[in-house]
Amino acid sequence: MEVRPGKLVVISGPSGVGKTTLLRRLLADLPELVPSISATTRPPRAGERDAIDYHFIPLEEFERRRAAGEFLECCQVYGRQHWYGTLVAEVDPRIAAGKWVVLEIDVEGTLSILARYPQAITIFVEPSHPDQLLQRLQNRGTESPEAMARRLEVARRELHEAHRYKHRVVNENVDEALVAVKRILADEGFAPATDRSSASRPAFHSQITPDQTTPEESRT
Ligand code: 5GP
Repeated sequence: MEVRPGKLVVISGPSGVGKTTLLRRLLADLPELVPSISATTRPPRAGERDAIDYHFIPLEEFERRRAAGEFLECCQVYGRQHWYGTLVAEVDPRIAAGKWVVLEIDVEGTLSILARYPQAITIFVEPSHPDQLLQRLQNRGTESPEAMARRLEVARRELHEAHRYKHRVVNENVDEALVAVKRILADEGFAPATDRSSASRPAFHSQITPDQTTPEESRT
């Protein structure tokens, strides 16, 4: 029997918007969604595990694999000195096998993905108010004033790109944002056999909590 190809779901959003928590919950609730594990040259943070949070690889290997065409897209994410990239092997075989694959990448990466997968379902997670990002970063209390200013500057640029995404979800409250993302997926044709909303939540980026992250590089 011929397998219907799956779909690509791309999620982006500025630092401080809470997209990592949202994504972790989404993947825990809907185990049929497959996360694409990106490759990066940045070192792992406390609690991050290779091949689960990222494929952590040295710059030379990243460059070699890039030259060999192993990346669907890759870039030096703005405001960070490290490289990040989506591996073809994480996406193409799974889409061909009928899976729905979820990428959490930046805006530049999304535009490259859209060039190759124009049908990708793109979702931009945005704050209810620009001050929300500042407040979250301040509440987290992990960032130096310079790092915070840099993150906010990157966030400002990213918010300008939100119109490029097919869907936008305001994350004022993570439960509501989660429902909104699930609704988008359902409208796009995702019909999971399982939704573990109220069951225990296995992990994606599992070992990371805001308290464990380093000041400069904490995820959002
Ligand atoms: P972090 O270092 O906090 O894990 O991630 C930093 C940024 O890199 C985030 O904005 C995240 O969306 C982006 N990112 C993670 N993986 C990829 C990837 O494979 N490609 C691109 N273009 N961006 C990525």
